[in-house]
Amino acid sequence: MNHVPFRSLTTPAALADAGLLAADAVPGLAGVAERYAIGVTPALVALSGAHPAIARQFVPAAEELLVSPAERADPIGDHAHSPVKGIVHRYPDRLLLMPTLSCAVYCRFCFRRESVGDAGVLSPAEMTAALDYIRATESVWEVILTGGDPLTLSARRLSEILTVLDTIPHVKTVRIHTRVPVAAPERIDGGLIAALTAISKPVYVGIHCNHAAELTADVKAACGRMANAGIPLLAQSVLLKGVNDSVEALDNLFRALVETRVRPYYLHHLDLAPGTGHFRVAVEEGQRLVQALRGRLSGLALPTYILDIPGGAGKVPAGAAYMSPEGDGTFLVRDPQGSTHAYAPDIAKTS
Ligand code: SF4
Repeated sequence: MNHVPFRSLTTPAALADAGLLAADAVPGLAGVAERYAIGVTPALVALSGAHPAIARQFVPAAEELLVSPAERADPIGDHAHSPVKGIVHRYPDRLLLMPTLSCAVYCRFCFRRESVGDAGVLSPAEMTAALDYIRATESVWEVILTGGDPLTLSARRLSEILTVLDTIPHVKTVRIHTRVPVAAPERIDGGLIAALTAISKPVYVGIHCNHAAELTADVKAACGRMANAGIPLLAQSVLLKGVNDSVEALDNLFRALVETRVRPYYLHHLDLAPGTGHFRVAVEEGQRLVQALRGRLSGLALPTYILDIPGGAGKVPAGAAYMSPEGDGTFLVRDPQGSTHAYAPDIAKTS
């Protein structure tokens, strides 16, 4: 159940009425609407009309029914690492807690598109079992609330979950992954901020943002309210064809995030979720873009280009290597412009 009245548009017909789809495209999208959740909040309807890069992320397309052999329903292997419902425990010291599978907006390239939707909230008994698992697993240092979108929960419900996590001694930090500050910035109000700051442990907020145009005045104000309350803000972005696959678009995005007090954290290579091929950028092109950015952006504005290995083996940096060993203790180092330099640290002589 979604606790917040986002007043989202949830059907192709409604999107056509809002001018975001041609009326004659609506019948051809029935299969997409049947298979995948649709939801576009008023803030993103307004932006989508003016920015094709925004509309492309949220307005359904017929290509979503084209599934390549490499694509899979569970691209990053969540199911293989789920000991109890609502938990994904892939790495020893951190895990995902998914209290809801509802989102404020449904991205057309979502890596969990086969599971997200309005019906997915943990029952009280399931939530108790998930929290019991965290309490009993002493290796867990960090809990990452994700889903779905945890900030679609009411402030009261969120506060209840955070309060329990605060009582578990081995959990030292909490992170929340969300699209809400972009999709429904009005939701970042005093009640929600009070819930995020009421516990003694640090709560980091990771904001999903893919284009500088998403950072409207309202979104910047919402981020400012969190930053002023002392909440550290990170950004996760996805490299998407037709949205941000140029040096200029990524440069604008990462600078705008830093100017909003949001630290770019990850630039994700798109996961192999079904029907997302029309968003996929080649790895070589992603590496070229990131290398070009390194030559022009402050380190503060440069996220790590990251690949989630299909099947659940974890995340690895996807950028091109800058250093290659020569075998005699020296390295060949490539600078952002592509020139190479010898680097000889001479470790043997100093030890
Ligand atoms: S907000 Fe996140 S979980 Fe929800 S549809 Fe978008 S990518 Fe998927």
